[in-house]
Amino acid sequence: MHGVNEEYYMRDNTLCVKRPAVSHEGFSSLSIPTYRASTIVFETTEDYANRKSRGPDGYSYGLHGTPTTRTLEAAITRLEQGVRTILVPSGQAAITIVLLTVLKPGDSVLIPDTAYPPVSGFCEHYLKPRGISYRVYDPTIGGDIDALIDETVRLVWTESPGSTTMEIQDIAAIVAVAKTKGVLVGCDNTWATPLLFKPLSQGVDFSVEALTKYIGGHSDLLMGSITVSELNLHRRLKDTMRMFGIGVSPDDAALVLRGLETMSVRLAHCGRVAEDFAKRIASRLSPDLVLHPVLPTTPGHAFWKRDFNGASGVFSLIIPAEAEAAVSDLLTAAKVFSIGASWGGTHSLFAPMTVEPKATRISHRGTILRISIGLEDERDLWMDIEPIVDAIAQIA
Ligand SMILES: *Cc1c(COP(=O)(O)O)cnc(C)c1O
Repeated sequence: MHGVNEEYYMRDNTLCVKRPAVSHEGFSSLSIPTYRASTIVFETTEDYANRKSRGPDGYSYGLHGTPTTRTLEAAITRLEQGVRTILVPSGQAAITIVLLTVLKPGDSVLIPDTAYPPVSGFCEHYLKPRGISYRVYDPTIGGDIDALIDETVRLVWTESPGSTTMEIQDIAAIVAVAKTKGVLVGCDNTWATPLLFKPLSQGVDFSVEALTKYIGGHSDLLMGSITVSELNLHRRLKDTMRMFGIGVSPDDAALVLRGLETMSVRLAHCGRVAEDFAKRIASRLSPDLVLHPVLPTTPGHAFWKRDFNGASGVFSLIIPAEAEAAVSDLLTAAKVFSIGASWGGTHSLFAPMTVEPKATRISHRGTILRISIGLEDERDLWMDIEPIVDAIAQIA
């Protein structure tokens, strides 16, 4: 090994800092090493002076990527069938970074009424005071979005199915209209993951995932990803990230890589149980109370059949006002389900959501129970759900 002998001439304080080189030969593991770094070192002063020429795919500083984070980016890029992916600290950050990259003062963005709620909060309280406006649209609008695209619109945001109310959007129709007007389209694909829907293959420009959910899969980290269809969009996103000084921890990226390895099995299981429960509940109650794309009564069911490769493990149940108090007690009494936001982990969750739709066809105002199926035995899960169904059946 080069340099081993010289090291004996270095003093102890130096030897504490300079690591010995050990052989990597013959070491080949199935896991990806966690490369932590701030500084990246260069062979020569010339290399250092020219570091910008390494471009958005090169290594120049730990914040902008390590082999660990690049491996995760490449894995997601392949699944999304895109050209590049960037990692950001949360799913919400993935959405805001796209908006901040595309929009300038005077521009506007269209967001569905059913977008992940902090998105409209960001538009109202961050973008609007900075001269960027937004308009909320009915998620079932399809090609009629044409009428909302004036000369200020630069981006149409989509989320399919919609958070909590589960409408599947006609992404193809929205993309077709946006393309003719030179407007970009972004899609929050967190519910489906790239295993069940591939937005870029429909002509979407930015596909966003909250890796926090199914891909991380264990409720122990936060991360988001943005996958793009064009290198130019990747360069623009990287510029935004560099200027804000945002990156992700390689330790968290390694955990996401581990979660990704089991995602297909977890998702298939959660999807099967959720579908079975949704159908069982719909057969006991009015089917209109159950919101799951597999049900013909859920808006956009036909688009789900056309575009998706299955369903994940999250669906919703409308709680009639007269049953709210009884259901609230039953949620607290649940033995297996926990009460909490987020989803996509191994633990099943109940999230009672208050909805106040502005532009949606689902007219219910009040509580909608979002149900996220985890990996516990479905017979134990049903014992928590059945009394809720009974309580609603009594009043409905
Ligand atoms: C959870 C979620 C997000 C935000 O992800 P975080 O990592 O929690 O910020 C965005 N979109 C959807 C659809 C989500 O469910």
